[in-house]
Amino acid sequence: MRGIGPTRTCVGCGQRDSQVQLLRFSLSEDGALVAGVSRGRGGYLHHRPACMHAFAKARAGFVRSLRAVVPREIRLRYLAHIERSATLSS
Ligand SMILES: [Zn+2]
Repeated sequence: MRGIGPTRTCVGCGQRDSQVQLLRFSLSEDGALVAGVSRGRGGYLHHRPACMHAFAKARAGFVRSLRAVVPREIRLRYLAHIERSATLSS
């Protein structure tokens, strides 16, 4: 791992990494996961399918950085949304 700057923990693999390597998401007011910078608490996920799937399929949906349980249905919907977008192109 190289570089300076803040590090965050990926909710998929549990590894710490530079924040720029991670995709930020947060919980919207209606309980959905949304990507990108926003106010309030956020979680971080690598731009890797393995990490996305690990997060989406985890049995326990508690996301510590959000201090909230995210139901699997919500996680799967977010995963589908991310996979449709171009953010996984790299
Ligand atoms: Zn990861």
